[in-house]
Amino acid sequence: MTTDTVPPYRPDISSLLAQPHDPWLGAHELSEYTFCDRAGLNTTHLEAADHGQDDNHVPPLDYQPEYDPDAIQRYLHVYSVRVVSWGMACMVMTLLRATTFQNNGLTWLMALLSSAGFLILGISDAGQLLFWYRQYWRSRMGDATLPDPVNPEPEAIHWWHFHRAGFVSASTVGGLQDDELHLAGQPFKLLQRGNEYVPVFLKRGDSTRLFPQHFVRIAVYCLLLQRQTNGIARYGLVLNAGTFDCVAIKFNRESFDLLSLNLIDARRTARHYRELDQSPPPPKPYLCRKCPFGKPLSVDTAESLIQREQTGLVPRANIGSDGRRYHAHCGDRFHWMPPHQQVVELGIPH
Ligand code: SF4
Repeated sequence: MTTDTVPPYRPDISSLLAQPHDPWLGAHELSEYTFCDRAGLNTTHLEAADHGQDDNHVPPLDYQPEYDPDAIQRYLHVYSVRVVSWGMACMVMTLLRATTFQNNGLTWLMALLSSAGFLILGISDAGQLLFWYRQYWRSRMGDATLPDPVNPEPEAIHWWHFHRAGFVSASTVGGLQDDELHLAGQPFKLLQRGNEYVPVFLKRGDSTRLFPQHFVRIAVYCLLLQRQTNGIARYGLVLNAGTFDCVAIKFNRESFDLLSLNLIDARRTARHYRELDQSPPPPKPYLCRKCPFGKPLSVDTAESLIQREQTGLVPRANIGSDGRRYHAHCGDRFHWMPPHQQVVELGIPH
């Protein structure tokens, strides 16, 4: 079935309309609440002035030209011109050496060094030219097959299929936000074809496994896009960093229900914490094992000092088996020591 014959999913959002006291939540923040309520609160309080922005540690994809056909063409042109220029300069110097400078030792030597320099620059740029040619060749591979609009399951798909199907990069400057839902977000990259949009989330790490937070995040982007542009957003892409492999997560009843449940839960958790000073219970211990908020820091280190300045929290430190005092961001906020893998390895009581 073709995409055009299947109507997009347009959910009823009346039960999600925000009350004035409901906090604004960004897509990144909400996905942290989905992972763990305490992680959501840690994120909210750490990045209070940064609603709607995704992970700040990730460089914008706009600066990764190997994902952009126009940028690839641009680089191909630039490096072609440079290789030809260096090659011609090298040839001119070689000719001058063999003719005009033949009887002048010093000038001949300088011409020789110049030729060598031009040659080295030419070889270095030829390497770049080959790299961009390879990217160009890869961008021409594959066909224009898009995810099946009636299949509700996530589908693996190659990045370049979207470009082959006519999608181009659109600007995400300013991000997306919805005053009625108090929701915001800025996808890492946005693809557009007419009134059809595909938000992209860049996933770090080796694992290709999808978690509920990925579904919530993509659902937020699609919902915001549909409401803000009045266009169509059938799915979003989770792009594995350093590759061109994507998974298309569908925006459908299932992902929207997950978004709704988590949004309502996150609002309640944030309100209870803010108004009643009520902390959510700790999650299952395995979640803390690799969580950055649970990573122990020795109170003597500059890293710890910076973290404490950022959070304004008093460290809740325990002594490890090496005699040093350790604390963790999550522990400082919720007065405990999370069972992080390093907490166990360092013999810190928890
Ligand atoms: S350390 Fe544990 S409780 Fe704290 S944010 Fe991480 S997963 Fe949640």
